[in-house]
Amino acid sequence: FQLSSSLLRKEVEQTYIMIKPDGVQRGLVGEIISRFEKKGFLLKGLKLFQCPKDLAQEHYKDLKERPFFPNLIDYITSGPVVCMAWEGDGVVASARKLIGATNPLQAEPGTIRGDLAVQTGRNVVHGSDSPDNGKREIGLWFKEGELAQWESVQTPWLIE
Ligand code: UDP
Ligand code: MG
Repeated sequence: FQLSSSLLRKEVEQTYIMIKPDGVQRGLVGEIISRFEKKGFLLKGLKLFQCPKDLAQEHYKDLKERPFFPNLIDYITSGPVVCMAWEGDGVVASARKLIGATNPLQAEPGTIRGDLAVQTGRNVVHGSDSPDNGKREIGLWFKEGELAQWESVQTPWLIE
């Protein structure tokens, strides 16, 4: 038998990016989305969303023993967040570079946190730390049918 091309095709990498409540309140939504758009990644999902406590706890479950966990959950649920799914080869690691170090004072200028934030507890944006977590987090934050299937007209100008 023959494997169909869809089975042979390498799965496209996706990452979960979230503008945290401070980013929304500070009017940084356009600025932050713009950085991923300009880089050349493909936006597959986007929504403004008030996160319930149990979802925040599930999202950050690996950190639940850490002393800052209760504050982190209060922070993430303190106002609406912007949930995004971005796609492209290498998007997970590249997005982490665009975002910068967890502590904004250590984040390089030119990164989102390096340019726009001063404190770890108010670091404006989240990005998945591995392709597996990208999948897990997109599954947590988006429902079936909320991701768009589309091709950008820019693709042939970005990818040879
Ligand atoms: N965080 C915090 N205090 C800390 C470490 C982390 O408030 O000492 C928060 C911060 O918002 C961070 C999030 O917890 O972005 C998740 O921590 P992680 O180490 O996964 O950092 P990230 O992957 O977001 O850079
Ligand atoms: Mg993390």
